[in-house]
Amino acid sequence: MVRITGVTKTYPGPVTALAGVDLTIRAGEFVAIVGPSGSGKSTLLQLLGTLDEPTSGTVRIAGHDIAALPDRSRSALRAGTIGFVFQQFHLAAGVPADENVADGLLYAGVPRRRRLQAAREALERVGLGHRLDHRPNELSGGERQRVAIARALLGSPPLLLADEPTGNLDSAAGETVLALLTDLHATGTTVVIITHDRRIAALPPRQIAVRDGRVVADTEQDGHRARTSEPARGPVRAAEPDPGPAQAADWGGRRG
Ligand code: ADP
Repeated sequence: MVRITGVTKTYPGPVTALAGVDLTIRAGEFVAIVGPSGSGKSTLLQLLGTLDEPTSGTVRIAGHDIAALPDRSRSALRAGTIGFVFQQFHLAAGVPADENVADGLLYAGVPRRRRLQAAREALERVGLGHRLDHRPNELSGGERQRVAIARALLGSPPLLLADEPTGNLDSAAGETVLALLTDLHATGTTVVIITHDRRIAALPPRQIAVRDGRVVADTEQDGHRARTSEPARGPVRAAEPDPGPAQAADWGGRRG
């Protein structure tokens, strides 16, 4: 689903946001990309989401070399392949939930009635069939994020990218959203969660730790090395010692 090779990203300044990243995520995986604020997670998400290009190296999504695609093909690939969920929900104020979700298909040329039908099905899928006509200010934070997830699910994208999806939620609402992402993975969607919160990062079977623009630990590779050449040792903790329960919850990253 994702193959990133030798990727660097430098912003004007210059700021090196990614300093050489190699990463493969297979179809159907459930992965957390974890690291402190400023480590390069959002930059990586932009590249995975085909919203930006690397300064050097190659980003392949669903087999396509992003840099080689003309803008229109890239937009089409994004629309058909990738769903996005953000910390801030990004719902239109004053617009009912079903229309907020239906707007996700606005540029796909789908007629309004079919868009609304698909939106209502997606809202049923996230457990909000009883909130179709509620506006964002009439929904709890967790419900708003579920509306955003319903919108991301329109068109059944095989890849879902979630950037701090629980960052604006209390823990109960966060649990609901994480359970939903887990369900989506169980039904075959490749799910990538970006987070600075170690508790959330511990949920998926694979954790990729990023620091200073590099992958400093990957439970997949660590496990692979342990099976093949090196003696077995702890997974992510090999590079990031567990600070213990008191500090484990938060890497001191961004706040909503
Ligand atoms: P994270 O998501 O882990 O907090 P980011 O990918 O947002 O990290 O940022 C990585 C580094 O790149 C940081 O030092 C940040 O200040 C810098 N950076 C991010 N976006 C830009 C930009 N558009 N212009 C300049 N520097 C940027």
